[in-house]
This record gives sequence, C-alpha cells and structure tokens, in this order.
Amino acid sequence: MFALCQPQVDKWLAARPKPAQAIPMPDLKSSLQSFITRLPKVELHVHLEGAVRPETLRELALNKSGLRQKVGEWISERRAQQYRYGSFQQFLVAFGIVTLLLEKPQDYALATTRLLEWLAEQNVQYAEIIFSAGVVLWKKQSVDAVFEAVAGAAEEAEPRTGVRVRWIFDAVRHFGLDHVREVLRWAGHYRSRGVVAFGIGGDEERGPARLFPDIFQEARDQGLHGVAHAGEACGPESIRDAVELLGVERIGHGLTAIRDPHVMTLLRERRIPLEVCPTSNVATGLIARFEDHPLPKFLEAGLVVTLNSDDPAMFGTSLQEEFLEAARCFGFSRETLAALCINAARASFLGEDEKQKLCEEIMRAAT
Ligand SMILES: [Zn+2]
Repeated sequence: MFALCQPQVDKWLAARPKPAQAIPMPDLKSSLQSFITRLPKVELHVHLEGAVRPETLRELALNKSGLRQKVGEWISERRAQQYRYGSFQQFLVAFGIVTLLLEKPQDYALATTRLLEWLAEQNVQYAEIIFSAGVVLWKKQSVDAVFEAVAGAAEEAEPRTGVRVRWIFDAVRHFGLDHVREVLRWAGHYRSRGVVAFGIGGDEERGPARLFPDIFQEARDQGLHGVAHAGEACGPESIRDAVELLGVERIGHGLTAIRDPHVMTLLRERRIPLEVCPTSNVATGLIARFEDHPLPKFLEAGLVVTLNSDDPAMFGTSLQEEFLEAARCFGFSRETLAALCINAARASFLGEDEKQKLCEEIMRAAT
C-alpha cells in the first residue's frame, strides 16, 4: 500500500495493534492531536513566500510605514474569508502583499527564520523548502543576494530549531525557456548551499512540459533532482508529460491523476511520489471540501502519497493541521498517519542513511 516503505517498515505496520474501536470523542481528539504532534514530520512541498504568517507580515511591515495599515486590513480580510479564494487570480492578488513586504534580502532572511521556528513547533524534522527563484527574478531582485540571506538564516536557525532544511529552486513555467534556464543556472550555482532540486510551477497550460525536457536533462547532469507542479489546475495529461517527458522524481499535487487510470498506473509502477496538499486545493477552489480530495483513493491504488502544506500561511493551515484534518476527514489510523510520514522521508532527497534514520525515528515515535 505504501510503496516506498522498506520491508521492515511494512513489517512494523503489519505488527502494530489495531486501533481501539470505541474511544470517547474528546479523548480521541486530544490523543490523536498529541500523537500527530509527537510524530516527527517531513515537509516536501512548502513555498517560503507562502509560509509567511500574519505575525511575520506585521514584523516585516514594521519598517515599511506605508504598508502597516494595509497589512492589518489584509489579515482581517483573510480571516473573514476563512483563507478561501474565489479563483487562482484572487489568490495571486492576495499574494501581492507578501511580495511587497519581501523587499530586501533581510526580509527573506526573517521569513526563513520564522518558518523554521514554525516548523519546529510542529515537530517537522526535515523540510525541502521551495524557493521561488523565478519570482525573485521577476521582481528584478538579485537571486544571489536574496538566496545568500535565506541560506544564511537557515544555517543559523537549523541547530537552534533542530529543523534540517534543503532547497528546491522553482521556475515559473509560463515565463518561457530563457527564464526557466536562468533559474536552473542559479540552482546549480547553489548546490553547495543545500539546493537539491529544480522544479517548475505556474500555469501548466501556458508552460507545458513538452517545452522543458532538455532543461530537466541539464538539471540531472548537474546532479539536481527534478520535480514539477502538475495535475493541479490541469488534467492528468500534464502529470503524464511531467513524468514521461521531464523524468521528474516527484509530482506536486497530482490531484487530477484520479481522472485517468493509465496515469494512476504510471505513477504506481514508476513509484513517483505525490506531494498532496488538500487544504491548498480547497482554498484555490479546485475541490469543494477537504474530504473531496482523492488522497484515500490514491493510497488504496498503491500510490506513494506524502502530505504537505503548500502555502500554509495563505491558506490558514500548517503541516500539523493537514495531518489532523486528514485524520478527521478520512478516519486515518495512526498507522496510516505514520506511514504518510515514512513515505515523505523515503521520498525526500536525503541520502539513504539519513532517510533510514528518519524512518526509524518516525517508527519509534509512533510505537
Ligand atoms: Zn506549490
């Protein structure tokens, strides 16, 4: 069922006692919550810019007098709308304030520090954070200066928070080949500062996978892993193309895979993990409710599924909250929740020994 788990993990899952049947709700809720808190978690799909919480936005606005009031209004508006957006366009408009506040390298450094502190609060042990180098280029900022500040902040916060971090440089696929190649160049340049992968996000229709096979080959030649957002707003063919044409090792979202049995088979046979982000899909209007997400169907079909938060601050969620909501909406057992964490550890771009260590830690905490 959880294809990336090693034999001993499967054995452990099989040997675990079955969950108790009739536990009164309040106890179940609080014990489930503490179980999820206790689980060492792995986050594979979180955007740095989408993880700037309201309190950090206020902190960033301290020296930007023109934006202070706007930030207050923005926060009240998000809460009133329960972090939902009528369309992807509306999401981008709301995202604008974050873009304005992340003006200087030190702003990005603060956002990084606060994100690592937040991940530590949720007992996230390891994160591959998406750095939108493409957006930095689009804002005409220096990738060099910004990422130096980000990497420096992470290196300072890692020992203090206990959260290990690696980076995925993300290009905006509909900005064209030159833009995407420029992001890859920076990704290669910063391999020594913890960049492990290169990816594409943005409009799947205006930036189809068939444009980028050579770039993803170049990424592999440079020793970078390849990932892609696919099957989010577009159909399953976008997922198939990302796997077959680009050779990506993980798919961001993959929501629409469920519409095509051939794509489901492709993902299962090639063991391509999905970075599932249910609250994000609800917030941007792709599905109506969390419980409409095909996550349980993906698991039943034998796909490798990991649970992630995407732009948690924009969607009023967190990785901890995604686990809680998955347990509530789908009735997942503790074994399934732990297996999702183990899947993420195995699907990460850590070395084999480090993956093994993480898996053992998860199993220890879950037993
Ligand atoms: Zn994303």
